[in-house]
Amino acid sequence: MIIRVLGCHGSELTIDDGNGRIRECRTCGFLVNETCMVDAGSVSAGLLEAEQGKIRQVLLSHAHFDHIKGLPLLADNLVGRNPQGPVKVRALPEVLDDLRRHIFNDVVFPDFTRLPTPDTAPLVYHPFDEEKTFTFDRLEVTAVRVNHIVPATGFIIREGDTALLYSGDTSETKRIWEVAAKETRLKAAFIETSFPNDFHELAKVSGHLTPEMLGREFVKIGRPDLPVYIYHLKPSYRSVIASELKRLNLPNLSVLEEGQVVRV
Ligand SMILES: [Zn+2]
Ligand SMILES: [Zn+2]
Repeated sequence: MIIRVLGCHGSELTIDDGNGRIRECRTCGFLVNETCMVDAGSVSAGLLEAEQGKIRQVLLSHAHFDHIKGLPLLADNLVGRNPQGPVKVRALPEVLDDLRRHIFNDVVFPDFTRLPTPDTAPLVYHPFDEEKTFTFDRLEVTAVRVNHIVPATGFIIREGDTALLYSGDTSETKRIWEVAAKETRLKAAFIETSFPNDFHELAKVSGHLTPEMLGREFVKIGRPDLPVYIYHLKPSYRSVIASELKRLNLPNLSVLEEGQVVRV
């Protein structure tokens, strides 16, 4: 499985990373095997036209703006040029309802599941049930509920003898770690960490993790050697979060960056 990181932050901001290097932080969007987006915060701005045209599936963890931001513009770019049929937008029924009511509502943006015509629309909604595995292309996906402030899931994404855990936005949780612990093919985990340790209360009320909380959650998988890739850092705190994560001394932990390609 090849995962291209289009965006891996909890907001969008251009920062000076302290070493005189300018870093463009973008919201969460990960392109799997060229055809499947996992979250769609960054997709329209991060990909060439031909690359956007290859996308067949979008898995949404939840409806928060930083995870759907690129979807309306992807739809707009694909209008009239999607001979392969509509892109399947897969999420919990509640999440698709929110998209329908608040984004593609013919006010904020056109309903691109019906326009320009129902037969040629660039998007189609495909609700999934939690913990009911579904398949497309060569991928097998299980969505598992996590603890966020709106309905949200993480994913176990499998291909051949490989599986990847994607936590979605979550605070302390249980079930997804249990499912991951039983996943014999698990090769890597993408887990969110949004705020520094000093922001523990903010992390709790907003449904996120700090490095300390991440450390306590990660042990629940029972695989201390598992490669873990951290994402969803709030850009303003990137360097402090990164140094707090380092102090956890997890052997295979790294912090994702835009443009990175991860092979699992
Ligand atoms: Zn988020
Ligand atoms: Zn969120």
